[in-house]
Amino acid sequence: ISVTEVWGQKQTVQLAYLNPRLPIEKRIENLMSQMTLKEKIAQMSQYVGLEHMREAEKNVTENELLNGHARGFYKDLHSSGVERMVAGGEIGSFLHVLTATEANHLQSLAEKSRLKIPLLIGIDAIHGNGLVRGSTIYPSPITMASTFAPGLVEEAARQTAVEMRATGSHWAFSPNIEIARDARWGRVGETFGEDPSLVSQMGIAMIRGLQTNDFTGTDKVLACAKHLVAGGVPANGTNAAPVELSEGELRNTYLAPFKAAIREAHPFTLMPAHNELNGIPCHGNKWLMTDIVRREFGFNGFIVSDWMDMEAISTRHRQVENVKEAFRLSVDGGVDMHMHGPVFAGNIEQLTGEGRLSVARVDSACYRILEAKFKLGLFENRYVDEKMIHKVVFTKEHQQTALEIARRGIVLLKNENNLLPIRAGKYRRILVTGPNVNNQSIMGDWVFDQPTENVWTVLKGIQQEAAPSEVNFVDVGWNLRNLDEKKIEEAVSVAKSSDLAIVVLGEDSFREHWEEKTCGENRDRMDITLWGKQNALIESIQKAGIPVIVVLVNGRPLATPWIAENIPAIVEAWEPGSMGGKALAEILFGKVNPSGKLPVTIPRHVGQISTVYNHKPSLFLHPYIDGEKEPLYSFGYGLSYTSFTYSDLKVSSSAIKAGDSVTLTVTITNKGDRKGEEVAQVYIRDDYSTTTRPVKELKKFKRIVLDKGQKQTISFTIGKEELAYYNRRAEYVLESGTFTLMVGSSSLDKDLLKTKLTVQ
Ligand code: BGC
Repeated sequence: ISVTEVWGQKQTVQLAYLNPRLPIEKRIENLMSQMTLKEKIAQMSQYVGLEHMREAEKNVTENELLNGHARGFYKDLHSSGVERMVAGGEIGSFLHVLTATEANHLQSLAEKSRLKIPLLIGIDAIHGNGLVRGSTIYPSPITMASTFAPGLVEEAARQTAVEMRATGSHWAFSPNIEIARDARWGRVGETFGEDPSLVSQMGIAMIRGLQTNDFTGTDKVLACAKHLVAGGVPANGTNAAPVELSEGELRNTYLAPFKAAIREAHPFTLMPAHNELNGIPCHGNKWLMTDIVRREFGFNGFIVSDWMDMEAISTRHRQVENVKEAFRLSVDGGVDMHMHGPVFAGNIEQLTGEGRLSVARVDSACYRILEAKFKLGLFENRYVDEKMIHKVVFTKEHQQTALEIARRGIVLLKNENNLLPIRAGKYRRILVTGPNVNNQSIMGDWVFDQPTENVWTVLKGIQQEAAPSEVNFVDVGWNLRNLDEKKIEEAVSVAKSSDLAIVVLGEDSFREHWEEKTCGENRDRMDITLWGKQNALIESIQKAGIPVIVVLVNGRPLATPWIAENIPAIVEAWEPGSMGGKALAEILFGKVNPSGKLPVTIPRHVGQISTVYNHKPSLFLHPYIDGEKEPLYSFGYGLSYTSFTYSDLKVSSSAIKAGDSVTLTVTITNKGDRKGEEVAQVYIRDDYSTTTRPVKELKKFKRIVLDKGQKQTISFTIGKEELAYYNRRAEYVLESGTFTLMVGSSSLDKDLLKTKLTVQ
């Protein structure tokens, strides 16, 4: 029992809930029995970290203020007011607390409150704890997806959890398991690409790494599967724009990763999407949040809103007349916590007082949030030891994982006449140039400035590997919208006296380049070609007549047909993280054999935006009159310095009954002259179906390592789960008839062996 004075009155609190030996349900029960309604609503309220808030106040743009993005938050809130609220027990959670010092400070304020409930601190740790200085920056999710190696992603997430806890955060707003099918959308790089099966496997891996089975323990964090749902196909390609989809398509494609992740990895939190779906804003969509994910999929944690999106039900979507009503719809629909700050708590209190929102609903939200805090051990360990940070953050082991992912996530797109790998000493002088050679854009979105010595830029990597060649770097500037013309001329003139050029082009997702950023959240584009004068740069260098290698560093697919046709060697590095320059150079100079495969189709032109590999049969009925219909590079494609052949595809039975499964075996041989890794991919096609189905659907994949000359037979199980689908009435059905089973090294027909299976 503790006696405290609150607002001049003596309060007695039974502290049984602080006893770690009691079962968690008993502790929650004991705590909640003493909480006022206001204190329960406080648990549902999340505010922005103080340092971040001060920074954000400085950077808020006119446009953000105008469109209401930041309204309410900036108007009347100052950090001292927030501190008082924490000490008064009025805030349950924070996002973006960027230092351990601030996390400890806020926790100490929370400990002063009547019930001493610790704060739950969330952060956008999307590929490493990137907003915190000194963290390991793993390759971005699109790069991770290119590895087709969920085991590595799980390991990166496990390490990220350790780094987060060491600096005071307990909850990653990750993974983003949206299906990205529009390259104009700036967020493609923070997703695992266009395919439901790959996205599901990667999402599951990341959730398992962050949380483990149960997130009990001081080195685990909560995962947050987001965004529910279909934000990756916004109208016009712009973030948060409306989405209209049939329920069958929604379930087959966009909800599939949520269903798989919830059933197999149990993320404790979910975040709805900014967009409306079929006329209902996701943040107020009870069918989606309660009927589908909670009741049908079995989600058992809590839902946090996205930034200003509860308010947006009224202010943007105009579904209801005021934000109070928006909060009601949203909480009643299933959202348990409000991200970002003020206005929420008072309205919820009023709504319950008026009987328009049930107290039971507030209780259920509060219960799950407290459950997370107890399981994470926060009541026992709310502080972090700042002296320990350097021992667990950016360790050699973590750097190695980031490096291994980059080595396998970088994709070799073209290699004419075996220009790559560059043989030591073959070229006397190498020109290295382009906007992404020497800056932190290799790290991708959701990363703040990192110590220079922690980052392997492309230049640093090349300088390390190029000896005995001489490396001549010409810095054309990093600002894609404004490359230095004089320097472009200089690069061309250096090219003339060089024997080889490596030109590093692409996009810029780096948050520190806030104004100049071309990719990442709210950096959507009308066009998906190279920005600014990058085309001029590469075209003039090519004219110098020396061999040219292009490296692309980018978070979204870029349409670069001129490069595809005219440059002999092309490497898609995506955003390979803080070890990225090292991995890339190892690939260029042959220390590492590339093995990444594309997790997304690369269009030839912006007009091909909806060209995914798993399209419906009639997509290409009529070709374009002004260009080719085939994309530049297909899903699952990626070259190696060795070559693999597939043979002896066998299916254990050519006919099965619904409910049975078959084993598919195939032999893969390394026919080249060096060791390599290969990603074998299994696709199915339902030959005829009552509702149309895609021409191919990835169902299984396996990454294997083969020495030169070595062969291996691998097998896959195919059963109902791989063959069934949601029809137009959203019924889950397995229809009888024939299926084509395909195995090979990419989604291209020429790379696939095929066999038939009949379902009786
Ligand atoms: C994004 C979320 C993110 C949140 C907090 C939003 O704009 O959509 O994915 O977790 O900001 O930073």
